[in-house]
Amino acid sequence: MLKGKNAVVTGSTSGIGLAIARALAAEGVNITLNGFGDAAAIEKERSGIESEFGVKAVYSAADLTKGSECAALIKFGEEQLGSVDILVNNAGVQHVSPIEDFPDDKWDLIIALNLSAAFHATKAAVPGMKARKWGRIINTASAHALVASPFKSAYVSAKHGIAGLTKTVALETATFGITVNAICPGYVWTPLVEKQIPDTAKARGITEEQVKEFLLAEQPTKEFVKVEEVAALAVFLCSDGAKSITGSLQQIDGGWVAE
Ligand code: NAD
Repeated sequence: MLKGKNAVVTGSTSGIGLAIARALAAEGVNITLNGFGDAAAIEKERSGIESEFGVKAVYSAADLTKGSECAALIKFGEEQLGSVDILVNNAGVQHVSPIEDFPDDKWDLIIALNLSAAFHATKAAVPGMKARKWGRIINTASAHALVASPFKSAYVSAKHGIAGLTKTVALETATFGITVNAICPGYVWTPLVEKQIPDTAKARGITEEQVKEFLLAEQPTKEFVKVEEVAALAVFLCSDGAKSITGSLQQIDGGWVAE
């Protein structure tokens, strides 16, 4: 049912975004990849998706901290693949610090990338989806869209903001065959989590070794969520079976926010 649809997945050169891009490609969806990283590694992923799944895959290095580049990314996807039927707003970064030391530039970066980028890309993608009377928008939020943790003021604020954006756009597009949902993962072992280990150790006064244990203490399953599990949820949200699911915040967190 998804075969021949076209998707833009932001922040898909790594982690959750890459897993979602690959899972959609496995369903026959053509993919616009986006994100930073080593050019040769990205080209290997892009061409690998094409040969493995028999779809078209293109890549844009758009820096989504800039609103104009978010809009340009959607235009690129429309020009290269013919349309943007599925938009996954996934790119994100983290910074861990007590509020009184939280660097202003990190606050601005996280709000720009983790929240405003989704606004700009969604704004650019919705007209085409409305015209075709079909669309799927998935925002990679977080358990931190529902609950807070100390030392993550910008991230928690951005993710709570994404929850509001998700619900609002879902209401505006509900009669156009468009669904808008947020996925709220708990801890998933990706470079984003790996990179916050030293700062979390510093902020909490524990060793780096203790941090991993500390993170999993949040999750009743005591296991990291796998990127493939998040990707499977994204594919389901794109399916016909999920067409009445809109404006929802989907928890995939090993029971974290149920506690
Ligand atoms: P990751 O570091 O593996 O991937 C982040 C992606 O964003 C990369 O492709 C990176 O190149 C891209 N990116 C960074 N800056 C960018 C920019 N300015 N413009 C465009 N792309 C940019 O991290 P991840 O864990 O896969 O995170 C993906 C999303 O999942 C994020 O929104 C994150 O907040 C969310 N999330 C992650 C976890 C987790 O535990 N890993 C939990 C909940 C939510």
